[in-house]
Amino acid sequence: MAGDESIVTIDGPAGSGKTTVARNVAQRLGFRFLDTGAMYRAAALAALDRGVSLDPLDAAGAVSALRAADLSLAEDGAVTLGGASVEDRIRGPEVTRAVSAVAAVPEVRRQLTELQRRFAARAHPGLVAEGRDMATVVFPCASHRFYLDASVAERARRRVEELRQHGGEAPGIEAMIALIRARDEKDAGREAAPLCIGRGVRVIDTTALALDEVVERILAELGARQ
Ligand code: C5P
Repeated sequence: MAGDESIVTIDGPAGSGKTTVARNVAQRLGFRFLDTGAMYRAAALAALDRGVSLDPLDAAGAVSALRAADLSLAEDGAVTLGGASVEDRIRGPEVTRAVSAVAAVPEVRRQLTELQRRFAARAHPGLVAEGRDMATVVFPCASHRFYLDASVAERARRRVEELRQHGGEAPGIEAMIALIRARDEKDAGREAAPLCIGRGVRVIDTTALALDEVVERILAELGARQ
C-alpha cells in the first residue's frame, strides 16, 4: 500500500536534535511543524498545576487535569491550555521531571494522539511531526519516517549548551547524562507507545553530524523517494 506522502515523522530520544531538525525540514518543504513533546509537557504542567501526585502516579488525576485544562493546538501548532500559550512554562526542570510519568498514561496518550491526527488532517500541504511514537503509533502510514539517535554523552552536551544559551541553570554533563538516561528508560520502558524504532524507519546517528547536515540528509532522502 502506498504511504502518505504529506507526512514526515521524526522520532528519537531527548537531545537527538529532532526538534531543530524537524522544524528546519518543515520550513524547507513549506510544511507545518508539530512538536508533540510540547503537548505531553503541557499535559504534565496541567497535572502539576492541579497538584496531582506523580510519584506514585495518580493516573485518573492526570486525565481529569488534562480534561479540565482544555489543551489544544493553535493554527501554527503552538500548544495552549485554556486558550493561552504555555511555551514559556513547559521547558523548566519541574515539567521535564514530571513529563514521562504523565506520558505513560494510556488515556492521556489517546487524547493527544487524536489531537495530533486532527492537526495533520488540516495541515496543508503537509506536516513534519516529531516525538517518540510518530512512526509507530500516530502516523504509521507516513511514507517518510525517521529516527534520530546520538550517544548519550553528545545528547547531554547539547542539552547543557541549549540551557546555557537560554540563560537557564544547567547541571554538569555527568548530572545531565543521568537525567537523560532516566528519561530514556521511562520512555522506552512504558507499555503504552514506548520509544522504539519502528519497522522500516530510517535511523540517522547524529552524534558526529551538525544538525544542518541532518536536515540535508533527510531532504535528500525525501527527494530521492519522490
Ligand atoms: O521531546 P521532549 O523532550 O520535549 O518530550 C518530553 C516528553 O514527552 C518525553 O520525555 C516523553 O515522555 C513524552 N513524549 C511522548 N510521546 C511523544 C512526545 C513526547 O511520550 N510523541
